[in-house]
Amino acid sequence: MAPNVPPAPCRAEIDLDAVEHNARVLVDAAQGARVMAVVKADAYGHGAVAVSLAALRGGADALGVTTIAEALELREAGITAEILAWIYLPSDDVRAALEADVDLAVPSPAHLDTVIQAARRTGLRARVTPKIDTGLARSGITPEDWPEVLTRLVAAEAGGLIEVTGLMAHFAHADDPGNPVIDQQVARLHEAVEQARAAGLACPVNHHANSAATLTRPDDGFEMVRPGIALYGLDPVGDLDVDLRPVMSFTADILMIKRLSAGQGVSYGHTWHAPHDTTVALISAGYADGVWRILSGQIDVEIGGVRYPNVGRVCMDQFVVDLGPTPDPTIRAGDTAVLFGDGTNGGPTAAEWADKLGTIHYEVVTAVRGRARRHVLGRHAGGDKGSAK
Ligand SMILES: *Cc1c(COP(=O)(O)O)cnc(C)c1O
Repeated sequence: MAPNVPPAPCRAEIDLDAVEHNARVLVDAAQGARVMAVVKADAYGHGAVAVSLAALRGGADALGVTTIAEALELREAGITAEILAWIYLPSDDVRAALEADVDLAVPSPAHLDTVIQAARRTGLRARVTPKIDTGLARSGITPEDWPEVLTRLVAAEAGGLIEVTGLMAHFAHADDPGNPVIDQQVARLHEAVEQARAAGLACPVNHHANSAATLTRPDDGFEMVRPGIALYGLDPVGDLDVDLRPVMSFTADILMIKRLSAGQGVSYGHTWHAPHDTTVALISAGYADGVWRILSGQIDVEIGGVRYPNVGRVCMDQFVVDLGPTPDPTIRAGDTAVLFGDGTNGGPTAAEWADKLGTIHYEVVTAVRGRARRHVLGRHAGGDKGSAK
């Protein structure tokens, strides 16, 4: 960036030490199963390269992404760990994945055609993870297609075109640990693994568990787990007794502070009027940066260990908080407000925003955008600095 350009007025601060800590917690919870850290969608908005390195330092064995482009970004950053990508079209040219030693999921017969064709054209053996639909009914090989796909997998492996690393599947109800569908899905994947092994595939590393299942179902008997959200320090179930540390803090600068007289309406539409003379602070983030307008009047920010409520509508670029009639005189323009973070000091969290929005914290952290720039913190942040989005 050109010199003398002021820094971004709002930030996603990423605590890499927390990622490393959470990875260790997940390795422990996996009870000997390997851990594939899921860093799809730019590591849930946290920055894929820096998070991947931190997760590997914390003991993760492999990385999971959606697209081949995401996998290649990690390879270009010099990451040599095993990487699995699970979203591409049957019409895509996947040779780049094979050339970069990226494993590919195979969620349908047409995807198998694509991978086999790429193996033929490159002369490289593709590492594939057939994705079984055990009940989510999203992607995955259906029970109807499975016998034929299995036959073709056996032939392609025997022909040296592919190596089947294992089977994978994804849960529908993992965040509801008592749900009986979880057991059904586990049983279906075990059955598919048995069928594959009986047909001659070794299937050494099979996996079903996301974060919720990793933390609540350590006894599923598969060789790897595939946690995402817990790596970012967010509890996938909501009431787990696990030492996860939230990784992202969404912070913004105080642009100015001003006195208001009783009765003054604030922000568009004057949806809030000062009930008495008061002082407000203007916060430099808005809905373009991931502060949902629908949260107007419902969120607090934390400044210096104290929570202050948003008043009036959240705008595209800024919103107002009420500091009260006798504000802390040490609060100044340029100070930092925490919109959500790790909850220490009683501050707001992404989970709190999610509850108010009627959504999940996954959506809150992945929605930080716009002018928000990433600031990477932690013992190993140095090498990753400047990885602003
Ligand atoms: C996103 C994703 C995960 C990780 O899920 P979390 O709930 O974030 O742990 C695992 N597997 C697949 C296939 C996914 O798409």
